[in-house]
Amino acid sequence: MAIGFHGLFATHEAEHHDLVFGGLSLLIGSAVFAVDMFTGIEGAVAVLYSIALLFAAQAANRKGLMALSAAFIALTLFAFFFGHGPDPDMQAFLRLVVALASLAVTTALLVRNDEAKAELLRMNSALRESETRYRSIFHGTRVALWERDYSRLRHHLVSLKARGISDIKLHARDNPEFIRDCIQMIEIVAANAAANDLLGATPDHPSNCAMAGYIPPDSAAITEVLQAIMDGASHLEHDAEVISENGETKSVLLSIGFPDDTSAFNRVVVSMVDVTQREEARKTLAEAQAELSRASKAATVGVLSASLAHELNQPLGAIVVNSQTLLRWLAKDPPDLEATRRSAERILRDGNRASEIIKNTRSMLSATPPEAEHIDLNALLSETLTLMEHDLQRERTAVEIIQEEEIPSVPGIKIEMQQVLINLISNAAHAIAAAAAKRRLVTITLKNEHDGEHVLISVRDTGNGLDLEAARKIFTPFFTTKKNGMGMGLSICRSAIEARGGTLEARNHPEGGALFEIRLPKEKADA
Ligand code: ADP
Repeated sequence: MAIGFHGLFATHEAEHHDLVFGGLSLLIGSAVFAVDMFTGIEGAVAVLYSIALLFAAQAANRKGLMALSAAFIALTLFAFFFGHGPDPDMQAFLRLVVALASLAVTTALLVRNDEAKAELLRMNSALRESETRYRSIFHGTRVALWERDYSRLRHHLVSLKARGISDIKLHARDNPEFIRDCIQMIEIVAANAAANDLLGATPDHPSNCAMAGYIPPDSAAITEVLQAIMDGASHLEHDAEVISENGETKSVLLSIGFPDDTSAFNRVVVSMVDVTQREEARKTLAEAQAELSRASKAATVGVLSASLAHELNQPLGAIVVNSQTLLRWLAKDPPDLEATRRSAERILRDGNRASEIIKNTRSMLSATPPEAEHIDLNALLSETLTLMEHDLQRERTAVEIIQEEEIPSVPGIKIEMQQVLINLISNAAHAIAAAAAKRRLVTITLKNEHDGEHVLISVRDTGNGLDLEAARKIFTPFFTTKKNGMGMGLSICRSAIEARGGTLEARNHPEGGALFEIRLPKEKADA
C-alpha cells in the first residue's frame, strides 16, 4: 500500500511501530468497509473509519493520512451507492453526511496535529544544533569559561535584601563569615579546558564542583559580584585574583553576564582572562620607575652638593662673622646690649637658613612623599637661583626673570617643583655651553594663563634648540645626548608636573633656543 507508512521514525524500532499501527489501521478500515458493504446495518458505520484514521496517524505522515482519508471517503460513497442505489432515502443520506463529516473533521484534526508535531521536532532540532554550537564554542575557546550555579547564592542575597540589607561591604564587615559562606554557595556546573588550565585543575582535582578554594576570601571582586547580584545588575567586569591548585595567585579580568530570567541563575556564564603577566610587568615597571626616580633624585642631589656646600658656606660664614661682632659688643664696657641683640638675631636667621637647606636636601632623598603645600613661585625661583648661583657663575650664564603681574601660589611639593626648575635651568645652561653661544642667557617668565585657571612658567635659553629627534623623544626615559647624561631628568619632571594636574611641553622658540613651558593649576578658591 503506497499511502506513506514509511514512518517519521528512522530506526528499526520505529519501522516496527509503523508496521503495527499501519496494519491495524488497514484491518479496521477493511472491517468497517465489509460491515458497511455487506450487512444491512442502518447506522453511520462509516464513522468508524475515524478509528482507522487515528491508528494510521501513529504511522503515516500528512500526505499518507490525507490519501487514506480520501480512500475511506471513496469506500464510504461506493458502499452507499452500492447499498442504496441512485435514489437513497433521506435517513440514509443524512447518515452518509454524518459519516463523511466525521471523516473530514478527524482528518483535519490529525493533519493539524501532525503539523504541530513537525514544528516541534524542527524547533527541537534547531535547539539541539544551537546547543551543540554553544558547547563547541564553550569548550574550544582559549578564554577560561565556567557555567556556574548562582541560584542558591541569589536566593540568599535576595532574602538578605528583603531584610533591609543593601550594602554588602558593610554587612561583610559586621559578619566576618558572610563572604566565606557566600563563596561556598557558588557551584560549578561546567568548566572548559582553558578554565581548568587557569586553575591548574587535573583529573585528580577537577575544578568541577565548587569555587571555594579558588577565590581568596579577602577578594574585592567577590564583594562586587555579590553586590551586583543583590542589585540585579546585568553585567559585571572587574579585576580579580584566583588561587590555582598549586597555591599560585593569578590576576584575572573577570566578566559575568547575569541572565534577565532569574530562573536561569543556575547556569550563569563566567569568563576570566589571565592578566598575571601583564600585572607583573606593570608592577615591575612601576617599581623600576620609582627606583629610577629615587636614583635620579640622588644624582640630582649629588650634582647639587657643590652648590649646597657653597650655599651653606654663606650662612655659616655669616654666623661666624656675626658671632665675632657679638663678642666684640659684649666685650665693650659697658656692653652694647642692643647691638648684641641684633647680632644674635642675625645669627639665628642664618642658622635657620642653613638648617632649612639641609632639610630640603634630606626630604629630596626620602622615599615617603611629603604633604602638598602652597608654593610661592617667586620665592621658590629666587631660592632655586641662589642654590644654583655657583653653577651658573661657572657656566657664565645669566638668568633673567620676567614677571609683569602678580602670581598666586600653586599647590604642590616645594622640593619637587624646585627639582623641576633646577633640571630645566641646568639643561638650559648646558645647552648654552654646548652651543658656545655668545649670548648666554636663560629667560624665565612667570605669568597667569588667559584661562584664569593656570600659571605659566617658561624657561628659554640661547642654545641651539631641539633637533627633530630630541623634539620627539625629549620626555622619553633614557633619551640623552650627553656623555654623562642619564636621560631621566625631563621624564621625571613631566611626571612630577602631571601628578599635580599640570603639563610640561618643549619646543623651539621662533627666535632660537629651546623653550620649556610648565602650566600649573592655580589653587582652587575653596581649597
Ligand atoms: P639628561 O640631562 O641626563 O640628558 P634630560 O631628560 O634632562 O636628561 O634631557 C634629555 C635630553 O634632552 C638631553 O640629553 C638633551 O639632548 C635634550 N635637552 C634637554 N634640555 C634641552 C635644552 N634646553 N636644549 C636642547 N636640548 C635639550
